[in-house]
Formats: sequence, C-alpha cells, structure tokens
Amino acid sequence: MRTPADFVATTIRSEIRALSAYAVARADGVIKLDAMENPYPLPQAVRAKIAAAVALVPVNRYPDGGADAVKSALREAFGIPGSLGLILGNGSDELIQIITSAVAKPGAAMLAPEPSFAMYRLTALYAGVRFVGVPLAAGFTLDTGAMLAAIERERPALVFLAYPNNPTGNLFSATGIEAIISAAPGMVVVDEAYHAFADASFLPRLREFPNLVVLRTVSKIGMAGLRLGYAVAAPEWTAELNKLRQPYNLNALTQAAAPILLAEGALLAEQAARIKSERSRLHAALGALPDVVAFRTETNFVLARVPDAPRWFDRLLDAGILVKNLHGWHPSLEHCLRITVGTPAENDALIAALKTIQ
Ligand code: PMP
Repeated sequence: MRTPADFVATTIRSEIRALSAYAVARADGVIKLDAMENPYPLPQAVRAKIAAAVALVPVNRYPDGGADAVKSALREAFGIPGSLGLILGNGSDELIQIITSAVAKPGAAMLAPEPSFAMYRLTALYAGVRFVGVPLAAGFTLDTGAMLAAIERERPALVFLAYPNNPTGNLFSATGIEAIISAAPGMVVVDEAYHAFADASFLPRLREFPNLVVLRTVSKIGMAGLRLGYAVAAPEWTAELNKLRQPYNLNALTQAAAPILLAEGALLAEQAARIKSERSRLHAALGALPDVVAFRTETNFVLARVPDAPRWFDRLLDAGILVKNLHGWHPSLEHCLRITVGTPAENDALIAALKTIQ
C-alpha cells in the first residue's frame, strides 16, 4: 500500500518539499527582542474600550467582508484620501501573497534588493514567480545602477523595496527609489512596515507614480496580534487585488479592536517617539562595546556586528533575552544580531547582559 509519504513525494511540488516551515522562536518567560513588536502593553482605559467593543461582536456571523470601519479608521489615522484605493490584509504578509499571485503570469519575475525581508523571496516561490535578488552596495545602500540594470534585463512584473529595509534598518535613497519606480515596467511596492520610526514615506507621493503601491502594517505600532496590513494605491490596482482577497480575511474581533487603537493617535505617536529615543540609546551602548559595530537604523530595531554572533546569541539567551541571530542569512550580515528596541527596563537588561559577554 502506498504511504502518505509516497503520495506527498509525487504530489507536493519539490520546491515546497525542500523548504522548512517558518520557525517562530519560543519565547516563554524571556525578554522578547526578536520580532520587532511594540514592547508597551495597552493602557487600561484602551483595554477596557476594546473589551467592551469585542463583547458586542456577533461572532456567530461572518465579519464585514469590506471591513469598512477599519478602512475608515486607517484613512482617518494616516490621512489616506478617498480618491486612493485601500485594501486590507491579514497582516501585510497576506497582501504580499495577494500582490505576488496577481502578477504570477508564466515567466514573471519579482525583483528585490538583498538582504531584505525574507518573505518576498518565499512568496515568489509559493506563487511560482522567478525571484531576482540584487545585492545591496556597501553600507547596505541601494545599488541603484545594479537595480536599473536588472530591471532592464529581467523586466520584472513586481519590485519590492522595504523602506526602511528589514533586516538592515536603513532607509534607501529616495532618488534611487524614484528612478526604480520610473524605470519599472510593472508594479513597485514600497513596503513601509517601519514608517512610524522613520521620517520618510512615499504615501503622500502616490499620485506621482502610476505603478506605485505603498504597503503598510500596524504590527510594529502595537497591534501585531491583530494581524492587520494595508496597501494603498490607485483604485485601478486595488480593484484587481481585491479579487484575490478571501472574502472574510479580516476577522470580526480584529475589526472591532483595530479602530479603537487607531483612534489613539497621541498614544501611538508617543510610543513611537519613546522607541526612537531608546533606539538611539541602544545604538550608542552597542557602539561603545569593544569590537562591536553598530549600524544606524530608522526602524524599531538596532543592528550590530559582534565578534561571534552565535555565541553572543546563546549568551543573551542564557541571560533570558531573545534576539535575532542573522549570521548565515546573507554574507553581508556575517555575525550580525538584530535586536528589537524594548522598554527602557528591557533595554537596560540587554545592555547589562551585553557588557558581560567576552
Ligand atoms: N514587511 C516588512 C519589511 C516586515 O519586516 C514585516 C514583518 N517582519 C512585514 C512586512 C510583515 O508584517 P505583518 O505581516 O505583521 O503585517
């Protein structure tokens, strides 16, 4: 009799079988500085408002397929005019999948700098789209010349630019991005997952570029658990993308909670400001350690090259602190650690632990 493994071997695509599932690190009881979450719990008053709203949700019914209340709250919070299209995803990860499958004609290519957000390459693989990675230049800057040459050569249906970039944390040159958008034959997605921590955005410039999509998430500003991402573009784009969206992709509890948090503009701004100031403190503390290079970041994480990243990762874990070891991800990230900015107390614990590592 044929076993399940026999069927799997002949049925599942070989490139999927070759993958390992995305490993989410266990984080019980540790100081969790590995996933770019906002470290601040919700104030009690906001918690109470969310509890009251969630209590009224008719969970026996499907959610609003259009998620209109969430869309209005996003438009209000981020000044997105009604003339621009808006599509919501179960995290921006889902929107990356929707966008990629929308362009996945036979032979279509996706282009992105490397290293960048790992889901771009993976999502291309899921959709059967050819991924073309273009190495970043020294200092993790955009190699605009190489990107333009690759656009000319590959004619990509889709270009992803994370602005600021993950995992390097820097903002690419705006003029480089403009040149890429202008040269691209297809869609260019500027992924602004970390916009709250950088003083730059292409959202106000959407009208200048007919092929630009701005992708965002609320995950980094305190709502990672809600799973809500959004993409803004000309309505011609969002109308097509909307056809690939599952009808009820945003669950009813998220739809009830998100508008309440999005209305807390002052709280969100204050938390982002605190994270930015703690980022400076962490950057300085890392840079002051012997044999450590701290890179400048515009995100809610810092990036540092240490003498031995696997060992430093283990020593931090021994001290109860979970960070991300990027060693082995890409040659340019050799011995790099990516550390999410925590609360001041968490950052103090991190700095104290770092000082004890020899
Ligand atoms: N884009 C970038 C650049 C990211 O770093 C991340 C999260 N690590 C995402 C998108 C996905 O975020 P989410 O699915 O939580 O919205």
